[in-house]
Formats: sequence, C-alpha cells, structure tokens
Amino acid sequence: MAFTLPELGYAYDALEPAIDARTMEIHHTKHHQGYTNKLNAAIEGTNLAGKSIEDILSSLDMTNTAVRNNGGGYYNHCLYWQVIAPNDRGRLSGPLREAIDSAFGSVDSFKEHFAAAAKTRFGSGWAFLCVHEGGKVEVCSTPNQDNPLMPGVGCGGTPILGIDVWEHAYYLNYQNRRPDYVSAFMGIINWNVVEQKYEAAL
Ligand code: MN
Repeated sequence: MAFTLPELGYAYDALEPAIDARTMEIHHTKHHQGYTNKLNAAIEGTNLAGKSIEDILSSLDMTNTAVRNNGGGYYNHCLYWQVIAPNDRGRLSGPLREAIDSAFGSVDSFKEHFAAAAKTRFGSGWAFLCVHEGGKVEVCSTPNQDNPLMPGVGCGGTPILGIDVWEHAYYLNYQNRRPDYVSAFMGIINWNVVEQKYEAAL
C-alpha cells in the first residue's frame, strides 16, 4: 500500500495573510508530492513496504538517505498541514497546557522557545514540540527532513507540533524574513489538533 498525499482540509488561500496561496499550493502539490513519490519509490519491493510511516522512521537505518529524506519529508509535511488552520483553532488548555507550563513556566515562554528554535535552525530544517513518556514536553530542532522519531535525532519523543523552516515554506512572501514567517505561523496553530496529538501520544 503506497503512501498518498493527504488533503489539506482547507483551501490554499485559507491561511492568508500568514501563508500565501501560491506558497501553499507549490508546497503541497510539488514538494510534499515529491517526497511522497520518492518515498514510495524507495520502499517499493523492500521490507519497509506496507509498514506505517511511524514504524519506518522509528526503526530507520540512518544511512538509507532516500528513506531518511523522503520518509521524513512525507511525515513532517503531514504533521505541518494538520497543526495549522484558518479558523476553529481552539486555545491552549487542559493537560497540554499543564505540561507546557511545567516545562517552560508559561505559554509565552514556550512560544519564545519554539520560535527561537525555528528562527535559529541554520539552513533548512524543522522545529518541533515533542512529547516524552509520562507526558513531559520538549522543543527541539532538526536539520533537513530529519524527524524526532528517527534514531538519535533531535530530542526524541513523539512530535505533536512542527514548523517547516525550509525557504520553500516562506520565501515567496517573506523572502529572507524567516522571523516574520515564524511569528505568523505562531498565530495560526491549531491547538485543538495539537492537544489531540498530545493526548494520543500519552
Ligand atoms: Mn516543506
């Protein structure tokens, strides 16, 4: 069963002005589709075919660069589309709010840590909020399409929020102003989904 490109669940222009329609369309139909196709090609006929993406990443041979790059790219972008929304975003509350307060002291402090990880990632990569066993949350950053589920990458744990800081995620609208893109992203996070992912990861 090959991996397929997920639907966004909203229109390409639905996140404007935070993320423009052209960027969304290219990102989804070209970049994410490309990772999807290359992941399928890389696992076809191997013992990875038929496994879930989580199983593939968590037991990955990190020297398998085709699956590392494209499997990471497939998973990371699936997460990215889910954790942003044009509306009905909810607000940070419940057990996730408690875990964030416990780890960072306050929601504002968490947002500063997360944004800083995104802004300071050199070159292309991601920042994530991850959940560890017991419910502790942590912010980390990875290069390229590496993902915390992969062995020895980032802070480990299960990612429940991720921001893409590859230039393809923002350059058309923001050019070199990554901090402005990160700030805009912080305003469109779908906390309903992030909370669901937190509770599912426990
Ligand atoms: Mn991307």
